[in-house]
Amino acid sequence: MGGTAVVVGGGIGGLAAAIGLRRIGWDVRVVERAATLADAGAGISLHANGLRALDALGVGAAVRSAARPQYTGGTRTPGGGWLARMDGAALERALGTPIVGIRRAVLHRLLRAALPAECLHTGVTVPALDRSAPDRVGVPVGDAVLDADLVVAADGVGSRLRGLLFPGHPGPVYAGSTVLRAVTDRALELSGDFELTWGGGAEFGHIAFADGRAEWHAVLTAAAGVRHDDPLGMLRRRFGGWHDPVPALLDATRPKDVLHHDIHELATPLRSFVAGRVALLGDAAHAMTPNLGQGACQALEDAVTLAAAVATEPSVGSALARYDAERRPRSQAVARAARQAGRMGQRLSHPLAVALRNTALRLAPSRATTRAILRHADWTPPSLG
Ligand SMILES: Cc1cc2nc3c(=O)[nH]c(=O)nc-3n(C[C@H](O)[C@H](O)[C@H](O)COP(=O)(O)OP(=O)(O)OC[C@H]3O[C@@H](n4cnc5c(N)ncnc54)[C@H](O)[C@@H]3O)c2cc1C
Repeated sequence: MGGTAVVVGGGIGGLAAAIGLRRIGWDVRVVERAATLADAGAGISLHANGLRALDALGVGAAVRSAARPQYTGGTRTPGGGWLARMDGAALERALGTPIVGIRRAVLHRLLRAALPAECLHTGVTVPALDRSAPDRVGVPVGDAVLDADLVVAADGVGSRLRGLLFPGHPGPVYAGSTVLRAVTDRALELSGDFELTWGGGAEFGHIAFADGRAEWHAVLTAAAGVRHDDPLGMLRRRFGGWHDPVPALLDATRPKDVLHHDIHELATPLRSFVAGRVALLGDAAHAMTPNLGQGACQALEDAVTLAAAVATEPSVGSALARYDAERRPRSQAVARAARQAGRMGQRLSHPLAVALRNTALRLAPSRATTRAILRHADWTPPSLG
């Protein structure tokens, strides 16, 4: 079955979906509202499931060679004591790869490079879809209308298309935490590739990159919408007494590079990822809290699964039914687990609860961390032929 598809949204999920559909022979357009295609976020960690999905899309090797494997690190207390160690070598033995860290802008560039420039339409917001015909969907793009057999709504957590297709759904909600993050402007000597540190109601973490620089993130329980005149100054006051390399990471950052976002999630799961000939994908379908580092990995799984279903099913209808059946339970389970990880991690603030959690983590066998990662990362993509 060949056909035409329009992907709304040129984030990681949308670009991956476009690559997958092109690989099975479909004619694909990506429509993105931003004038320039780039992911403004700082860095990202990719687990084996995300990397395997990228392999299936033909870009895994390029991403691996630009990324830094995360062999060492783990979870710490603000004083520097270890709660759990991450064993990247054990993950590599079990899954063929440790977690890797990469700048979002680099990942985005590599995904874009796998698509011909003429299939990307930037600076265009898709306001709605014309679903009046049973066998086509009309996608308004400026003054023109693109006709498609299939539309992929990959328009992110605030998805306008989800709101139109599922008007009864309450939409995303504030998850109660806000995140400030940046990439350092220089390389640092870091003893761990990947670390998370939990204080009461606060988390500080870093991911080291191949060029020696690192992304750091600080997550705080806070009211939505609170912003700071001097975010870096606020973070220095809040985290200045935490263990090395937390102050060093803040010191190696230019104030203008600090991004600040409130975290939103789809707390009410969608009852379907499909409406007629439209498939929701990525954060539009299952925006989750970032506590497991799985949001983009799940979007990449969506993309490969969708392309495989479209390649093998006799009709768009049966392909989308299969996509929904294969993706909804898994991605929604990962989203639930991410929320729970946040409750037990960054969001835990009562001193007694924090002490109990820390004791339980210190007593847990060292392979417990590896097992927790394997639970979500050990996924095998369907073949795209
Ligand atoms: C702090 C933080 C850390 C994270 N860390 C990780 C991690 O380490 N590992 C991981 O796997 N995931 C991580 N995630 C999750 C990950 O960033 C997201 O799940 C992923 O980027 C979602 O990609 P997407 O393509 O679905 O959505 P988006 O990246 O939001 O892309 C949606 C695109 O659609 C465009 N758009 C929106 N509306 C329209 C419209 N009407 N018309 C046209 N275009 C439109 C937008 O401009 C945007 O480019 C993290 C998230 C956060 C917040």
